[in-house]
Amino acid sequence: MLAQADLKVTEKVPVAMLLIDMLNIKRINDTLGVAAGDEIIRQAADRLDAFTSPELTVGHLGGGEFLILVESPRKTHLDRLVQELNSAFKRVFQINGQNVHQPISIGISLYPEDAHSSQQLLSNSHTAVTYAKRNGSYSHAFYSERYSQDAQDSLYLESLLLQAIPTNELKVFFQPKVDVMGNFRGAEALVRWNSAELGNVPPGRFIPIAEQSDIILDIGRWVIEQSCAHASRWKEEVGRNYSVSINISPKQFYEEGIVEFIDQTMQKYGLVGSQVEIEVTEGLFMEGEGFIRQKIEDMKAVGVSLAMDDFGTGYSSLQYLRSYPFDTLKVDRSFVMGLPNSEGDANLVRAIIKMGKALGLKIVAEGVESLEQAEFLRSEGCDLIQGYLFGKPMPPEELVEWLKLNLVRID
Ligand code: C2E
Ligand code: CA
Ligand code: CA
Repeated sequence: MLAQADLKVTEKVPVAMLLIDMLNIKRINDTLGVAAGDEIIRQAADRLDAFTSPELTVGHLGGGEFLILVESPRKTHLDRLVQELNSAFKRVFQINGQNVHQPISIGISLYPEDAHSSQQLLSNSHTAVTYAKRNGSYSHAFYSERYSQDAQDSLYLESLLLQAIPTNELKVFFQPKVDVMGNFRGAEALVRWNSAELGNVPPGRFIPIAEQSDIILDIGRWVIEQSCAHASRWKEEVGRNYSVSINISPKQFYEEGIVEFIDQTMQKYGLVGSQVEIEVTEGLFMEGEGFIRQKIEDMKAVGVSLAMDDFGTGYSSLQYLRSYPFDTLKVDRSFVMGLPNSEGDANLVRAIIKMGKALGLKIVAEGVESLEQAEFLRSEGCDLIQGYLFGKPMPPEELVEWLKLNLVRID
């Protein structure tokens, strides 16, 4: 193992600091054990060791973080170095006979351009890597002042978000899903945050921050609890059981004990598996399939159904749909938007529906705003439709009123 990084920044010599963050390490510790995590870090250290030279120092910062200091760096050199580092980490890691992917992100800060002390340089590299991570695996970012301001905003949001559950600022809204005859079939739970300080903050803004900071685990469990509690009341309030779909982020999916928590919560509220659907995105698979199968099988074993959300926006790998026991495929709103006039979107949606059907999946289209879109989807064999045309996400009380009043039909 390499020594702890020595952060001395030699005066006058320009330096680039690259912070390498191994994105999967916590997940590996949680799922395969800390010894497996240590073993991967050791293997990573060996790979990085090969990069050392008189101008290039490598150090282990702790956990899944490594530092590289490059003296008198040139831009072309740094670009090439980033490529080579990514290639080094794209080679699969072997742990106890299992193939494990270990993607990285790299944050880069320069001395003397960005900082005048080693602490500042390190802090900037952290800010840059946080930014790089937003662009997914094997991404990198150079530090900039703008990032710093944004990072402060995110930290501020994070501090407010920590208080959101105890101060009742979060609420779960429900958006109806209807079949092609306009009959209500279930609802998707969508979290809302009305912050005392900031007003309504959209989930697209705070979920990624929650996801980066582990707050998502608390929010996620709270959403599961709320969703099951409300779904259990639909029978007495409107006379029938309906299913509820819950979004689970990748980090939450990998959390230890999550399947047991879902199972216990369903039991607590008297729900059976067919009343709960878990929506996941392709992002789940981006960091390797090594240990995902067991988790998905555990999830299915408690009876819940599994939906692939936002299909078409990520890798869209047929392989995932074919080799894992998904029940539902959700066609992303971005494809529905162009229907029925955009030929490209129409062809794509047609192909997605056909393919999903061939795999025995139920097809749900999201973001349906017009009758023409609904009609197109119906004629192509889409099973369920969700969108403003039928109902926006609404508070639980409103959904019950909506259910009592609405016999929405699209024919
Ligand atoms: P998503 O899971 O794809 O949710 C669908 C989004 O489309 C929702 O945005 C919904 O309000 C919006 N939408 C539905 N129908 C229409 C329509 O006809 N027109 C338009 N323009 N938009 C429509 P929302 O509520 O802002 O949520 C955004 C994302 O935040 C969700 O995307 C989901 O990824 C995430 N999210 C929301 N709630 C949760 C949660 O409890 N847990 C997790 N992990 N993620 C959540
Ligand atoms: Ca969803
Ligand atoms: Ca979606």
